[in-house]
Amino acid sequence: MKIVLLGVSGAGKGTQSKRLAKHYNIEHISTGDILRDHMARKTEIGVEIQHIMDTGRLVSDELVIEIVKEKLKGPECTRGYILDGFPRTIFQAEALSGFAEIDKAVYVKLSDDSVIERLTGRRVCPKCGQMYHIKNFPPKVADICDVCGTGLVQREDDKAETVMERLRVFHELTEPIIDFYSKRNLLLEVSGEGAIDEITESIIEGFQKTSNSQ
Ligand code: AMP
Repeated sequence: MKIVLLGVSGAGKGTQSKRLAKHYNIEHISTGDILRDHMARKTEIGVEIQHIMDTGRLVSDELVIEIVKEKLKGPECTRGYILDGFPRTIFQAEALSGFAEIDKAVYVKLSDDSVIERLTGRRVCPKCGQMYHIKNFPPKVADICDVCGTGLVQREDDKAETVMERLRVFHELTEPIIDFYSKRNLLLEVSGEGAIDEITESIIEGFQKTSNSQ
């Protein structure tokens, strides 16, 4: 099974991708995580993209396409994979169709207001990566990670100004991809407003329905 997961940052793409990867026993590939790892390791790529990522813009199509293309050649991808955060432009979607045959595209839809509320309230542990939300999932002690006791931080790209820019970029560059997959009869649209479990269920059910009707 080869899945593409579309949605604005904050729609729960990462969470749903991890759950689907586990359910179908396929590889989870997040371009955002790969790029953040480059930044953390201060690789040549990491240094080059730092400012772009911090300001909520997209890194170059060529770079992410190359990263994904290489990754898909790995033995861990032979059973299938879920692409989280890729493609993000029509150019990337077209390039992907040249080297991979996607079975399903899921669009997790969320209103701009919900995105702003979710992202600006998000906090992360810089040591173990555990995520929190100041209102919906606060740590037991304010600003301290429950798991490892490290002080929590706000991701640079979760700051209000950057979130607005990420939304703008999503509407302008990524939204057209929804139509791209819809025209190819691959699209499943689900609401990202409900509980995490319910959203996962509706994706799995949606997949079953479409494969039964094919
Ligand atoms: P994410 O964790 O998916 O929200 O991605 C975080 C940031 O990584 C984005 O705001 C972009 O700067 C960059 N990024 C991730 N995936 C892509 C992609 N497919 N194309 C361009 N930039 C990307």
